Amino acid sequence: MEANRNNAKTKVVIVGGVAGGASCAARLRRLNENAEIIMVEKGPYVSYANCGLPYHVGGVIEKESSLLVATADTFRGMFNIEVRTHCEAVRILPDTRTVELRNVLTGEVSQESYDKLVLSPGAQSVRPPLPGIDLPGIFQVRTVPDARAIREWVERGSPFLAGMDRYCGFQASRPKTRAVVIGGGFIGLETAENLVHRGFEVTLVEMLDQLLAPLDPEMAGIVEDYVGRHGIRLALNDGVAGFQQANGALEVMTKSGQTYPADIVILALGVRPDTTLARAAGLEIGQRGGIRVDEQMRTSNPDIFAVGDAVEVKDFVTGEWSLIALAGPANRQGRIAADVIAGRPSRFRGTQGTSIIGLFGAAAAWVGASEKTLKRLGDDDYEKTYLFANSHAGYYPGAKPIPMKVLFRKSDGRLLGAQAVGMDGVDKRISALAMALQMGATIYDLEEAELCYAPQFGSAKDPVNFAGMVAADILRGDMPVVHWDALGDGLLLDVREAFELAVESVPGATHIPLGQLRSRLGELPRDREICVICRSGGRAYYATRVLLQNGYNARTIAGGMLSKVALGIE
Ligand code: FAD
Repeated sequence: MEANRNNAKTKVVIVGGVAGGASCAARLRRLNENAEIIMVEKGPYVSYANCGLPYHVGGVIEKESSLLVATADTFRGMFNIEVRTHCEAVRILPDTRTVELRNVLTGEVSQESYDKLVLSPGAQSVRPPLPGIDLPGIFQVRTVPDARAIREWVERGSPFLAGMDRYCGFQASRPKTRAVVIGGGFIGLETAENLVHRGFEVTLVEMLDQLLAPLDPEMAGIVEDYVGRHGIRLALNDGVAGFQQANGALEVMTKSGQTYPADIVILALGVRPDTTLARAAGLEIGQRGGIRVDEQMRTSNPDIFAVGDAVEVKDFVTGEWSLIALAGPANRQGRIAADVIAGRPSRFRGTQGTSIIGLFGAAAAWVGASEKTLKRLGDDDYEKTYLFANSHAGYYPGAKPIPMKVLFRKSDGRLLGAQAVGMDGVDKRISALAMALQMGATIYDLEEAELCYAPQFGSAKDPVNFAGMVAADILRGDMPVVHWDALGDGLLLDVREAFELAVESVPGATHIPLGQLRSRLGELPRDREICVICRSGGRAYYATRVLLQNGYNARTIAGGMLSKVALGIE
């Protein structure tokens, strides 16, 4: 095979030895036996599982060694890749194709030439210069040593707690330790969950008015309610202002004037691309602050590639430049850079932002564009629907509803994005939708998707099919919809049973249970739009069909009472 004869004696230096860097190195070796590959990493470890760090903090992953996916020895022994840990790339000299390296332990500086250079330096944790930010007891969760330091602090107990123990003389008197987590993204939430598991009273402070910024607020609201019920106290809409020590413990002060006492503080304020080397070397930096690369991960210098959290890539749905700090794209990009260096025509397709987080046995996942993003872009060629399909056949024990929001193009039905929260089966639905989205699928394709089914796994009409069917009903005009936040002056018709109204009713709505609708059509006006309500949208759809076929102007309120609650509409 021609591709297997490309064994040029290229010398490739890779900066950063974790997700993007390590996958680039290993792929390159598989493609080119003769390449000289040097991977430099300023930290002590290569190829470690940073995604597992919050679970090591929580003790779910007990042994630190479990986080070390492959060691420097693995790379040397199995792949003939020279790995230098504690080795920081401090300067690129593009004109001479040389990189300056510094041994972090000894300070010794050396130079290494390259034919191709790959940058995968990742991102840096945001750490604003707030008063008291360097006090002991304030941690971030980025590296193995970070997680080790948190565990040591937790296991040793804060100085304040140690004092209590000595004074009281017995462990039972120990007050529950208090943690404050700053930031409601992935890392903050995962760490907060793990600290709850370790018995901490956890307060999470978030500047935005919602958790998990990529989600639309009504879907984030489900997460907020759920984590609140599992012991995370949320302080949304409030930014951290500073830290101080008082009574032997820490205090976190917020912009609203609140003070939260803490025995440990976790900073999870987000990340920004590490562009230090790239900027100094004069490489183009994009509008979002990441290293600008083309589809082949090449920077503005054709001999320098960049991958992972440090780069800007195109959003697959919106076409905007975006920063995406996720392991999947970093690994794929590393592989693509290796392919291109080895002479293969691979290209990165753009990011869809496909993400998932597990919290207290539930999961929240999403892919593609959110409604927030579409609105920000002034895009009005989209429609949305909410569904609450079961994770598997309702008659098989353990089925749980999956609240799901699906966004699609009004004009051609193309899938634009999806978000789901639930106890079971969230991952496979969003993964299936992510694949569909990347293939440019429409909601009509989702209707036709043939997916695995047995009662314990799904339904004959899987939630993915169901999403397509509901969306297609909307676009075909079989089920005109209206949303709670856009109701006009139509008549509200509630088709639920009387006992359901006793739990929650809609003020001013006319009540005709679905089973009586055909015999009571005469009670409804023909000259007014009728907006039909039920619990989750299913019965309202049936009622809408009855009404439309009898000449009424009817619409289903998407997602019924469940979406009303999620949207926080009184
Ligand atoms: P990294 O994997 O961060 O590697 C960059 C490496 O480069 C670092 O080790 C750094 O020390 C080294 N380096 C930087 N500058 C230099 C230099 N000048 N010289 C030498 N070495 C240098 N993503 C998911 O998709 N799912 C998850 O569940 C998930 N959970 C996460 C949990 C945590 C706590 C963290 C921190 C991240 C998580 N991520 C997750 C994100 C994911 O880990 C990153 O997107 C991914 O690791 C990025 O890969 P990268 O190669 O760009 O950077």
